[in-house]
Amino acid sequence: MNLNASESLLARAREVIPSMTQTFSKGPNQWARGVSPSFLDRGDGAWVWDVDGNKYLDHLMALGPIILGYNNPHINQVISEQLQKGAVFSQMNALEVEVAELLVEHIPCAEMVRFGKNGSDATTAAVRAARASTGRDIIACCGYHGWHDWYIGTTTRNLGVPESVAALTKTFQYNDIDSLHRVFDSNQGNVAAVIMEPVGVVPPDPGFLEDVQQVAHANGALLIFDEVVTGFRFALGGAQDHFGITPDLACFGKAMANGLPLSAVVGRRDIMQVFDDAFFSGTFGGETLALAACKATIAEMTEHGVIDHIDKVGSALIEGSRALVEQYGLQEVIQLVGYPPRSLMVFPHEDERETRLRRTFFLQECVKRGLLYYGVHVPTASHRDREVQFTFDVFSEVIPLFAAAYQAGDFADRLDGKCVEPIFRKA
Ligand code: PMP
Repeated sequence: MNLNASESLLARAREVIPSMTQTFSKGPNQWARGVSPSFLDRGDGAWVWDVDGNKYLDHLMALGPIILGYNNPHINQVISEQLQKGAVFSQMNALEVEVAELLVEHIPCAEMVRFGKNGSDATTAAVRAARASTGRDIIACCGYHGWHDWYIGTTTRNLGVPESVAALTKTFQYNDIDSLHRVFDSNQGNVAAVIMEPVGVVPPDPGFLEDVQQVAHANGALLIFDEVVTGFRFALGGAQDHFGITPDLACFGKAMANGLPLSAVVGRRDIMQVFDDAFFSGTFGGETLALAACKATIAEMTEHGVIDHIDKVGSALIEGSRALVEQYGLQEVIQLVGYPPRSLMVFPHEDERETRLRRTFFLQECVKRGLLYYGVHVPTASHRDREVQFTFDVFSEVIPLFAAAYQAGDFADRLDGKCVEPIFRKA
């Protein structure tokens, strides 16, 4: 496979772009070096072409924003019509009202809406609203919530975040209500909010989400659901709709506009009204191409039953992959975790480096066969029988190779390039 154009762009990027990428998870050290492309040029449906013209099936879908498929003709037309009118103006635009109304209609907790561009805008806005409306400082979180100081200070990649800011965010563990109790016990009367993804890849234990809500409210704190990934995937109304738990505020992003940059913080009227005074304001908030795309995405998803489709395809991917893995007796070694709208293939091992070696080997053998694989499945309306079959055809070749490497215990020797690197060091 010719990767010359990718490699030459990488060499140029090294000179002018720190870490060569705008998004750590998309950078070259996240893929099997030597055999993977680094730059993609175009997409169509569930397929993408790299800058050398090689074609691949994609399951990562730009880390989740693509929900209908790349190059969706209807969304393209809507965007281009809006482009003729203008992308941003000197005053507000009707689309801000129309899309806010649509979100209020679909998202259980949404009574009012403010728009941003990245998921991080929405989570940070929600945290500010919670602090402003409770008059408290401490935030309890559990999971990834974006690049801003209040969250990233809790991670190992916290360079540049003042300790005084990092100290205001406390972490707890999913499905461990006692760990949340401990945050409240050590910060009595000063916790503004609990922010969490309602669900990641691990199912909530029965009653866990209800308990979190009860503990938060009993202590005068707000419950914020980070639905940046789950929103528009579990349901248009997010996982809160799916699980029947209504938070006080919620953050949406990623898939809202089929790839155009849009996010939103939504929630209870009395809390959202704090934005009359609290500052959440940006030049591109209300940018119309993304809003037009969001409106059209909601319409397409509703009209074509996309949530049901995603559920079906996602289940087929999980079940079919599991069956193939089991054929080779590898069910302890290669595991499929998560829900149909977002599942992962993981390679659990006590040694974190061994996990990465195994993952890199799997990715490497997939990409050689035309599957740009990351171990993540976020199915779209464009993942249909053909795409599922293609995936299984590739896995049918890759899993026996993986089994052989596992038997020999020499994954490192079988890599064509460098091992993928962790984004966050283990604490
Ligand atoms: N919350 C969650 C759960 C996310 O997965 C992400 C992004 N991966 C974010 C927030 C931040 O979104 P963004 O990268 O668009 O700022």
